[in-house]
Amino acid sequence: MRFHKAELFFFLLMFFVGISGAFSLAAYSAATGGFMVGGVESAASFSFMAMVLSGLSAVCGCFLVYPIMSRGVRERGKLQKMTESLSVRSLTLEHAAVTDSLTGMFNRRYFDDALAEYLQAFGHIDKPIGMVILDLDHFKAVNDTHGHDVGDKVLRQVAECLQVFTRYHDVLARLGGEEFAILSPNITERQLYTLSDRIRQAVSELQIPHGNVTLKVTVSAGLAIWDGVESGEELYRRADKQLYEAKRQGRNRVCAA
Ligand code: GH3
Ligand code: MG
Ligand code: MG
Repeated sequence: MRFHKAELFFFLLMFFVGISGAFSLAAYSAATGGFMVGGVESAASFSFMAMVLSGLSAVCGCFLVYPIMSRGVRERGKLQKMTESLSVRSLTLEHAAVTDSLTGMFNRRYFDDALAEYLQAFGHIDKPIGMVILDLDHFKAVNDTHGHDVGDKVLRQVAECLQVFTRYHDVLARLGGEEFAILSPNITERQLYTLSDRIRQAVSELQIPHGNVTLKVTVSAGLAIWDGVESGEELYRRADKQLYEAKRQGRNRVCAA
């Protein structure tokens, strides 16, 4: 068995303390005429030995054991700080992996995971779950006319507007480009339609200042309620088909399956 340096020094310290204790006992016994006889002289030399060993114990404690202990404590502190900053970093990375950097919304990856989880959970309870896909109308023209940065500003403002309308258990995400999606549990088709149309209306009323002009945009939306058996992808395809229908019918409208 191998001992650490600190353990060896500790044993040495304990040894000195033990022997010093034994000499003290012997000194006491010699002085009081107990089991150790020898009188005052022996008591004095035993006391002297006990003092020397106590001194050695103190030296051993202060210069050998204590520095190792305090270095250990400092290193543990450093390690703890490193671990903390690593776990903060990994949380930040985790957050970045599911967040859209332009709008701060969840991204497609998060949405797909949430969709799979919601469908699994809602498969066990008899509650409806709805999906809305929203796409800005003629957004390419915004970029072409005013530039990509202005397009980005429009996307951020639309994202803020969508956030206002969603409930805490709704999942709102930017799927990519100028396409957004809402996953809304425990909602009927009628309620989902009303929600989507309110969003459509609010987006159409947005006034986005740019230089001396005010930009206005509209959004089209397609929605579908989960039929209880289809996959997330099938549900998405049905909602997307309705979005296509809204575009076909002239945009700035909501279509439901
Ligand atoms: P529609 O009404 O049919 O949806 O027409 P649209 O112009 O909105 O659709 P289209 O697919 O033709 O163009 C989408 C545009 O969105 C093209 C692309 O430059 C722009 N876009 C995609 N992602 C971003 C982005 O992150 N920032 C900006 N500024 N533009 C983006
Ligand atoms: Mg579009
Ligand atoms: Mg699009």
